Amino acid sequence: MLDVVIIGTGPAGLTAAIYAARANLKPVIYAGTMHGGQLTTTTEVENFPGFEHGIMGPKLMTEMTSQAERFGTKIIYETVTKVDFSKRPFKLWTDSGEITAKAVIIATGATAKTLGLPKEAELMGRGLSTCATCDGFFYRNKVVAVTGGGDSAMEEANYLSKLCSQVYLIHRRAEFRASKIMVDRVLNNPKIKIMTPYVIEKPLHDQSGVNGLVIKHVETGATQELKVDGLFMAIGHKPNSDIFLPWVDIDSHGYIKTTQHTSTKTPGVFAAGDIADPTFKQAITAAGMGCQAAIQAQRFIEEHEGH
Ligand code: NAP
Repeated sequence: MLDVVIIGTGPAGLTAAIYAARANLKPVIYAGTMHGGQLTTTTEVENFPGFEHGIMGPKLMTEMTSQAERFGTKIIYETVTKVDFSKRPFKLWTDSGEITAKAVIIATGATAKTLGLPKEAELMGRGLSTCATCDGFFYRNKVVAVTGGGDSAMEEANYLSKLCSQVYLIHRRAEFRASKIMVDRVLNNPKIKIMTPYVIEKPLHDQSGVNGLVIKHVETGATQELKVDGLFMAIGHKPNSDIFLPWVDIDSHGYIKTTQHTSTKTPGVFAAGDIADPTFKQAITAAGMGCQAAIQAQRFIEEHEGH
């Protein structure tokens, strides 16, 4: 039986592993399909403390992985497909079979939804982005578009308007689902031009990345080209929480609800990072939650040892 199983290798999972390993809990971490998490799909990370000149997202995750391994973390490149947290020890399954653990840290993250545009994967980080806080700085004094009609899109458009020369907000309907105050901020922002109801047909690009978009008016079907240097897709996130039901509670968007820092409703099961964070979704906040989860797991094991 393992002491701690950590599911997910983003900043939350790897930070939890570093702390758990240094507490001699010999953590085993399941990497899933996206080793390193969302940061592996970004380019330069300039807001993670400790790197004066920034660090590439994949490099940051490789460093965190090595740091976790140095203290004895075992990384298994498999996906946890099923769990049973109805009693302790907890049971988890991968394609290779069953695992049992005294405590579990869920750090499976949330996947940013994307539009599924032609050449989307190729242009991600080269004009296409799903995070204005992460990538907005690279578009200083440039023209960008944001797509979406929720609070995230409004927030990202406002944020980008402080950096960029012009922001187009493109939404498929004339109505926004975002809260009124957020919409009002966008409507009153002279740097943001609203384009509704439009859908994005495809990005235009050259060698260096995106240089425009083809957009289509939903009612007339007329298409037009929009010259932009980047597109931020803010159409929501999908938290990867499905397999943990019914042993954790989730909110209406699928984020795991926690109390007392990272505790879920099942004692001994903790959730850290974007999977439990609908608000901040930053690498540094995920890392902080990973630290909390590991310390809480350690205390849980100490309290329940022999019970
Ligand atoms: P959301 O509320 O689910 O909105 C997603 C938006 O993307 C919707 O406007 C939707 O259009 C659009 N969309 C979805 N799929 C699309 C597609 N394939 N093509 C084009 N457009 C598409 O997501 P969110 O804005 O990320 O917000 C999630 C939650 O976090 C919400 O509860 C929100 O209030 C909260 N949040 C709060 C704040 C804040 O208060 N500061 C900031 C960010 C997020 P339709 O409207 O047509 O469906």
